[in-house]
Amino acid sequence: MLAQLRATLTRVTRHNGFRDLDGTPATADEAWEHWDNADTHGKPAIVRELDPHAGVYELRVNGQLRYELRRPAAGLRIDVVVDRDPDGQTGVTVYANGARATGPDVRTHVLDPGAGGPDHAWMTGHLQHDGSVPDEVQAEIAALAEDYHRHRFCAQCDG
Ligand SMILES: [Zn+2]
Repeated sequence: MLAQLRATLTRVTRHNGFRDLDGTPATADEAWEHWDNADTHGKPAIVRELDPHAGVYELRVNGQLRYELRRPAAGLRIDVVVDRDPDGQTGVTVYANGARATGPDVRTHVLDPGAGGPDHAWMTGHLQHDGSVPDEVQAEIAALAEDYHRHRFCAQCDG
């Protein structure tokens, strides 16, 4: 864990004593020197997570000296619950970092080709979006729709 942490650090500050909350900018090398030389300096330094989500760690050398280490904050955790109600619409609920995301921020794009190959109109219907749909999402939907639609057997498709 330590080697990985060291490689991803974005900020290191040196703190002397309890009252030094802001600390002084330092380097990862300086902090790790205390860690690497623990054997020759007696008591080993201790690393602990202060705030795993925000990516804040502490390397405590002794009662006076400690380093605060920061790595980039953890990315969003997205959980998607898909309710494939056989008698109704497919329901989708999205959780971002455990918080239920609802309302206009959540857009669902359901591709339901049904049994057999969907026809040309079905496919073209999935290629038209209002401008707010991100390009990456449009591309994903287009790729899926074109894949489901059997071009080879379609008179309306070119080639
Ligand atoms: Zn077609």
